[in-house]
Amino acid sequence: MKLVRDPEKLQRMLREERARGKSVGFVPTMGALHEGHLSLVRASNRENDITIVSIFVNPTQFGPKEDLARYPRPTRRDLDFLRAAKVDFVFMPSVEAMYPKGLAEPLKLKNAKWPRLAKGLCGKFRPGHFCGVATVVTKLLNITGLCRLYLGAKDLQQAAVISQLVRDLDTDIQVRVMPTVREKDGLAMSSRNRFLSTDERRRALAISRILFGLKRELLRKRSVATLRLRAIQELKKSVDRVQYFEIVDPGTLVPVKKHQKKMAVATACFVGKTRLIDNVIIRA
Ligand code: AMP
Repeated sequence: MKLVRDPEKLQRMLREERARGKSVGFVPTMGALHEGHLSLVRASNRENDITIVSIFVNPTQFGPKEDLARYPRPTRRDLDFLRAAKVDFVFMPSVEAMYPKGLAEPLKLKNAKWPRLAKGLCGKFRPGHFCGVATVVTKLLNITGLCRLYLGAKDLQQAAVISQLVRDLDTDIQVRVMPTVREKDGLAMSSRNRFLSTDERRRALAISRILFGLKRELLRKRSVATLRLRAIQELKKSVDRVQYFEIVDPGTLVPVKKHQKKMAVATACFVGKTRLIDNVIIRA
């Protein structure tokens, strides 16, 4: 496993790999790795000759009051984890290497579709977040070059925004969205789960329980609006704040009023000070 910190060096090394006919899979992460990340690495290993994982806590996607400073950075553990997972390259640039002239002005493609996708759900409460994500992913993809890109379904909106972004920019990148990996009891794995106290961890379980309960009810064609309100009330008994809880069209991320073939239920909740997101997809 090669650890590379310099963007140009990585660009060069991957260009050479491709010249030798090797296919490249890319898994962008912010580190503090867990089985969810590992599932993306496994998929990339299966489908490509070379797998590269980036670890970069991107400051441009955090708001001023968010948890950039306290975001976990267990670097040595992460590197051991990736070595064991047989990753070929780890890209771990500094903030200065990624943004040499200060923080780049985030991308805002007014004519593209992704800004519309970025408006609701998390985008409503994290202004500028998806512009920061789109900017860093574009930079990362320019560094890695042509690759298959592995993303987790856990970040529903992020996957939708990035999938649209690579289409809008006419790239040849193939996006692969992999299923959410959960703890045995249902809690979606997240780097932020480590912040939960024992009591918060127990209360956080309500999120997946209620999402899966709602999925069953929606499949029985009960009223979308009534079920949504009931689920929110139920969730409020366990979590400290429901930031949003929406039943949306998974393609457009616009809330649905009536049943349709494909729906997604997405939520963001605070348990203590920790913000957790989760979602389920429903195919009627
Ligand atoms: P992060 O390090 O949180 O930025 O996540 C890096 C990638 O891992 C993103 O594509 C996430 O969607 C994905 N990911 C995070 N948690 C999970 C999970 N529990 N299951 C599957 N993928 C995940």
